[in-house]
Amino acid sequence: MYIFSLIIVGLGICVYFAFLSPKPIGKSVGWLIASLIPAVFGNLLIVSSNTETSTLIGCYCYYIGMDLVMLALLRYTREYCSLDQNKRAMDIILCILLAADVIQYVCNPFFGQAFTLEAYTTPMDTDFRMIPHIGQYYHRILDYSIILSVMGIFLLKALRAARIYAERYWVIVFSMFIGTAWQTFSIISRDRIDKSMIGFGAFGVLVFYFTLYYRPMRLLDQMLAGIASRMPEALFFFDASDHCIWANEPAMQLAGGVEKNFEAVTENLHEMFGDLRSKGDEWTEQFVLGEKRNPKYYTVEKHTVTDEKGRPAGNFLNVRDTTEETLRIKHEIFTATHDGLTGLYNRESLYSGIQKLLPQHPDVSYLIIFLDVKNFKIVNDLFSNAFGDYALRCIAQWIRSQFSANSIYGRLGGDTFGICVPANEFDEAHFEEELGKFVVMEGTLEYHILIHLGVFRIIDTRLDVAVMFDRAHLALSTIRDEYQKHVAFYDNNLRDKVLWDQHISSQLHEAIETRQLRPFLQPIVDRTGRIVGAEALARWIHPTDGFLSPGSFIPVFEKNGMIVEVDRHMWRCSCEILRDWKSSPAHRDLFISVNISPKDFYFIDVLAEIKGLVKEFGIDSQLLRIEITETVMMTDADERMKIISAFREAGFIVEMDDFGSGYSSLNLLKDMPVDVLKIDMKFLSKARDEQKSQTIVQNIINLSDDLGISSLTEGVETEEQYHMLSQMRCRLFQGYFFAKPMPLEDFESFCNKHIA
Ligand code: C2E
Ligand code: MG
Ligand code: MG
Repeated sequence: MYIFSLIIVGLGICVYFAFLSPKPIGKSVGWLIASLIPAVFGNLLIVSSNTETSTLIGCYCYYIGMDLVMLALLRYTREYCSLDQNKRAMDIILCILLAADVIQYVCNPFFGQAFTLEAYTTPMDTDFRMIPHIGQYYHRILDYSIILSVMGIFLLKALRAARIYAERYWVIVFSMFIGTAWQTFSIISRDRIDKSMIGFGAFGVLVFYFTLYYRPMRLLDQMLAGIASRMPEALFFFDASDHCIWANEPAMQLAGGVEKNFEAVTENLHEMFGDLRSKGDEWTEQFVLGEKRNPKYYTVEKHTVTDEKGRPAGNFLNVRDTTEETLRIKHEIFTATHDGLTGLYNRESLYSGIQKLLPQHPDVSYLIIFLDVKNFKIVNDLFSNAFGDYALRCIAQWIRSQFSANSIYGRLGGDTFGICVPANEFDEAHFEEELGKFVVMEGTLEYHILIHLGVFRIIDTRLDVAVMFDRAHLALSTIRDEYQKHVAFYDNNLRDKVLWDQHISSQLHEAIETRQLRPFLQPIVDRTGRIVGAEALARWIHPTDGFLSPGSFIPVFEKNGMIVEVDRHMWRCSCEILRDWKSSPAHRDLFISVNISPKDFYFIDVLAEIKGLVKEFGIDSQLLRIEITETVMMTDADERMKIISAFREAGFIVEMDDFGSGYSSLNLLKDMPVDVLKIDMKFLSKARDEQKSQTIVQNIINLSDDLGISSLTEGVETEEQYHMLSQMRCRLFQGYFFAKPMPLEDFESFCNKHIA
């Protein structure tokens, strides 16, 4: 009785822990063990009772309990043996049969078809014995069939599984067999106390342990050994006295070990990696072996193994050939930090390289050089991109040859390179000479490439490298259009100029809005001295910087493109004046010439813009004269000719400004669709020989006359010049001799006085 109670308690504990188990099969185990409890309890009742009723209850508990055991056993088997979840038809049939068994026990009190109890007397008291009938046989056949099938399944699993795995199946088969055999023996011996319940209990505990807690150590050992020998990495195991006791195949290959001769392995390892024992118990280190051209990279790890008491039991080395990986990473780092075309550093790594270099040599003075190729686009367009690439590689090669290892250099992008060089290693004269003769040759192709260097001397090493390069670039921009000079240094004047440029550029909009920027008019007179018109010249009356002449701001805006804003404003103001003059008899016939920068043609549709203004202000297009310079014709000559012709067709008079200042070719003149030639005395007086310049002016006037172009001389400063030019049959005159450019009001009263 006590034993049965103990079994129940034991099973109860197992059920509790099984349900707590995180393993998915925990529930099935729990149900199986729980289902054993009613059967054992039934037996406990049978053993302990001496009345017919309690014996009967015990029997029902026992037999129905067995049906529950069968049900739980089926579920457990399916999960433990990983049977196909889809084939459940058999389960359903068995469940129905088990349910039928339960029903027939429920009917037994009425029909007595399963069993009856027979009282018999022992020398001590009266007891009851179960007399089986047909229903009881059904129950036994059903339960035996199930249990035998389950055993069969486990047996098959045990036989089919690998030996190490089979263990877990054999234990269950064996315990089931003992339990069943014991039970069979109990039935046959008709023993009143079913001792096979002890087998049930043991079965439950075994199932609990083997399913949920048992870890086959032998399996683990074998697995680990299998993994170790199949590992692609070399593994060496050493005993506590550092003798190699085992090495896997790659390890044997690496250390050139002969089969099972682990002593040789230890020696070879020593030769390859030096004394590894002295490095401690746990470490990882990279080794480079082999030739420099073809190096082999290894990562070696050492780990110490301790016994259960924490004493060192041995150690193992893991040697990984990381050559491929290391080379790949090195290659990736190279491509990330270098320019693919030239193999020089790219911008980012050059900047960071300079940032590291400067603090390393605080006593060395360095220069930052910005190297730029002039008109590199033309090289590409003229030859091919392939030749352009080749030229860039040649420049890179040239840089390598010119700068020592104390310098650092790279490609900033496109056709620009950057260099940081110790100041004492940079000889300006040498570079002027070198760059003067720089040619790129490919086969028979030889191309002179114009290279400029902008140089910035680093004073404050904390300055951002990008700013240093900006300054070097700025220096370079001062010689960008020069062919003889190749090296330019950044200095404070340059910086001041940049600051000035920024200062006025940021204020242009306001200056236009508040009319700080406005036209001054310079009279234009004819041969009789009568004022026929004026040139509108920009003046900036700055609130703090005072009077600014165009020389201080026009070139700045020409460069940054803001000249468009200035010119638009000047055109509009001139149109306003012309509109106001329409109602003034003294001024209504006067024209105003406005300047058009070559940049305007880049950015806006000059023709449409000016035509729009003329229309808006309702003025005669004859009165708004257009001054263009020869440089307008330097690019897109055909297109520009068309625009100028269109101006003329629209009734405007087009003047060629500053003729004689630049590349003026008389040749160009015959194709130029202009009405007036503005000859600048300033340029002519530059010629030392007075006589010579007179001849030139005379010829230009004659030629323009022949071409039907009228001439205007500007920069007339003296009476003699005026007379001389009149004699040369020049038609119009402009210059300080008549008047300087003046504000509108002054100009108007000047006109009035003149007429009076
Ligand atoms: P420009 O168009 O050739 O204008 C004539 C320049 O010669 C003016 O200089 C004028 O003041 C100056 N000048 C006139 N007579 C004499 C003289 O007898 N002797 C000397 N030495 N100089 C004389 P300014 O006003 O300083 O303008 C310089 C240049 O700035 C102009 O040359 C023109 O190219 C440009 N500019 C002026 N205003 C504008 C404008 O609104 N837009 C554009 N795009 N350029 C302008
Ligand atoms: Mg002009
Ligand atoms: Mg001019």
